[in-house]
Amino acid sequence: MKLLITGGAGFIGSAVVRRAIADGHQVVNLDALTYAACLDNVASVANHPDYAFAHVDIRDRAALDDVFAAHAPDAVMHLAAESHVDRSIDGPGDFIETNITGTYNMLEAARSHWTQVGKPAAFRFHHISTDEVFGSLPQIRTCSPKRALRSATALCRLQGLRRSPGARCGTRPMACRCVLTNCSNNYGPFHFPEKLIPVVILKALAGEPIPVYGTGSNVRDWLYVEDHAEALLLVLQKGQVGRSYNIGGENERTNLDLVQTLCAILDDKRPKAQGSYADQITFVTDRPGHDARYAIDPARIRAELGWRPSVTVEEGLARTVQWYLDNEGWWRALQSRDGVGKRLGTG
Ligand code: NAD
Repeated sequence: MKLLITGGAGFIGSAVVRRAIADGHQVVNLDALTYAACLDNVASVANHPDYAFAHVDIRDRAALDDVFAAHAPDAVMHLAAESHVDRSIDGPGDFIETNITGTYNMLEAARSHWTQVGKPAAFRFHHISTDEVFGSLPQIRTCSPKRALRSATALCRLQGLRRSPGARCGTRPMACRCVLTNCSNNYGPFHFPEKLIPVVILKALAGEPIPVYGTGSNVRDWLYVEDHAEALLLVLQKGQVGRSYNIGGENERTNLDLVQTLCAILDDKRPKAQGSYADQITFVTDRPGHDARYAIDPARIRAELGWRPSVTVEEGLARTVQWYLDNEGWWRALQSRDGVGKRLGTG
């Protein structure tokens, strides 16, 4: 397929780009190259004949129309977003413009293209969303219904999930054919050094305090990014149009457990002269409104598509730590970017 992948210079998007090229797809990587982007993430495929890059902002609808006209993709995988929760506390404006208006622009541009090319049944608009949209859960396991769907997800559902082909909603025909995925916290190679796991690794290696928000009791599920990329391409090709799939790592951990595991892996791979990296763990003021627990029920992707993650969190973290030890040039270059290494989002 010819895939238009937005946010392909970011963390998850670049993993999808690399995997899609390896699987034999053609890829147009559309990215505005914000502070969070790094074209080195896709350097391994940049000269591949099936790869093209479009330096475009999803807030610019006319530029999106040009990309659709120039490349005529068979499917869209939409990952471009402002993704760092701490930054959303300090400055929500970019989040509203990119994540909500930008997603709306992508949907409208895709719908317009799909209509112009005769509404092919095989066309897909795949929106990559997060478990955060389900809201915070109690820390003990319970069966809790979904809470509010956030705006971008809601737009995608309105565009493509709730309407059957040919059905009409008000005066507008059904929009293009959407699939939706919600995933848990990703980690792995090329993770931007403002996110928890790279922060822990890099603070540990620098001999600095390793910050843990609050008491470290918040629970997240952890998904290895290369497993996620595989699952996304599977859902795109085999998922049922109009459906929403949860993708999880089956690895729920408290933040403190996670940080302690990372310290133990570092103790093993790069022992300190004295003591353990865990001695550097420092509890800091919690993030305002820090959700207690997110979790994923992956029953549908397992039952319908036979997909399960390939690694435990311990295996994935060991690979990740090794990657950061082996790729110091990559992360050092990003440490001078705006806000990296600083405490953000204190409210
Ligand atoms: P990221 O911040 O690493 O990358 C985002 C990419 O989008 C960057 O390359 C950036 O340049 C690009 N971008 C931002 N604004 C843009 C704009 N206006 N126009 C075009 N490009 C723009 O993010 P990520 O971690 O790869 O996350 C990708 C998606 O997956 C996001 O929607 C995120 O919310 C979702 N998600 C991420 C996680 C996670 O743990 N990282 C978990 C669940 C869901």
